[in-house]
Amino acid sequence: QADIAMYQAKKAGRNTLSFFDPEMQETINLRAALENELREAIAHHQFELYYQIQMHSSGRVLGAEALVRWLHPQRGVVQPQEFIPLAEESGLILSLGQWVLEAACIELGNWRQNPLLSALTLSVNVSARQFHQANFVRQVKECVRRYGVNPARLKLELTESMLLDNTDGIIASMKELKALGIQFSLDDFGTGYSSLQYLKRLPLDQLKIDQNFVRDIVKDGNDEAIVRTIIAMAQSMELDFIAEGVETEEQKQVLLSYGCTHYQGYLFSKPVPLKAFQQLVREAVEK
Ligand code: C2E
Ligand code: MG
Ligand code: MG
Ligand code: MG
Repeated sequence: QADIAMYQAKKAGRNTLSFFDPEMQETINLRAALENELREAIAHHQFELYYQIQMHSSGRVLGAEALVRWLHPQRGVVQPQEFIPLAEESGLILSLGQWVLEAACIELGNWRQNPLLSALTLSVNVSARQFHQANFVRQVKECVRRYGVNPARLKLELTESMLLDNTDGIIASMKELKALGIQFSLDDFGTGYSSLQYLKRLPLDQLKIDQNFVRDIVKDGNDEAIVRTIIAMAQSMELDFIAEGVETEEQKQVLLSYGCTHYQGYLFSKPVPLKAFQQLVREAVEK
C-alpha cells in the first residue's frame, strides 16, 4: 500500500509529512481498499453493460450507448462516476475498458443476426489511457473479427481532452479503424477547448452536444447560443450531431428547431439492461 500512499501524498501536492496526517491516511486506506475491490471485481467480471437508446426525431431508433455498471455483491448497482475515475488513475481502466469493448462487440455480433437490431449502432466509451495504448487498434480489430461485428455499427466515443497530445499518432490510429468502417464520436463536446482548425484534422463522424448545454437550453440564452454554434460547426464539417441529456419535450423541440434530429436522454429512456433495451426498440418499431 505504501506506493499508493506516496502517490496520493504527491497528488495532494503536500510534502511527505502529510503522509502521517491521520485523516489523509484514512483517505489513502479507503482508496487502496476500493482499488483492490475494483481489481477483484474486474477479475470476477462483476460488470454489466447498460444501454441508453438514441432516437431520431421521426421516432426511429438509431442505436444505443453502452454504459458500464458495477454489480457490487453488497452495494448493488454502482454508477460509473464512483469507479471510472479511480479506474483511470490506477490503470485498471485498461482491463475494464477491454472488458467493455469485448462485451459490446459480443452484443453487436448478436444484433447482426437479429432483424430488429441489425441496423442499430452501438457507441462505446473509450478512455484516454485505453486509446493511447500501443495495441489499442489491434485490440479493436481483433474484437470485431472474433465476434463477427459489422464494423459500421460500432462507434467509439472519445473526448476532446484526450486528443490534444500526439495528435498525429491519434489521427493515424483513428484512420486505421475508420478504414474498417468503425465510426468515431466526440463525447461531451463543447466542454473542452478544441478549435475548429484542430477539429477539422480529426477523422470524426459525430459530435455529441454535452448535456450541460442542453439542460438549460430552454431558458438560458448563452446555452442556446452555444448549442447553435456547435450545430453550425458540425454542419460546416459535415458531421452528424446528437444531443445528450434531453429530458423534456420542450428541450427536444428547441433542439429540433435548430436542426438537431438525434437525441439521447431520459425523455426517451435511462440506461437500462439489455432485455429492457430490446423491449424499448420493439415498442418503438410497433408505434
Ligand atoms: P457519458 O459518456 O457522457 O455518458 C452519458 C451520461 O449521462 C451517462 O451517465 C447517462 O446515464 C447520463 N445521462 C444520459 N441522459 C441523461 C439525462 O437525460 N439526464 C441526466 N441527468 N443524465 C443523463 P453514466 O452512465 O452515469 O456514465 C457517466 C460517465 O461515465 C459517462 O459519461 C462516461 O464518461 C463514463 N463511462 C460510462 N461507461 C463507461 C465505459 O464503459 N468506459 C469508460 N471509459 N467510461 C464510461
Ligand atoms: Mg459517452
Ligand atoms: Mg457525454
Ligand atoms: Mg462524460
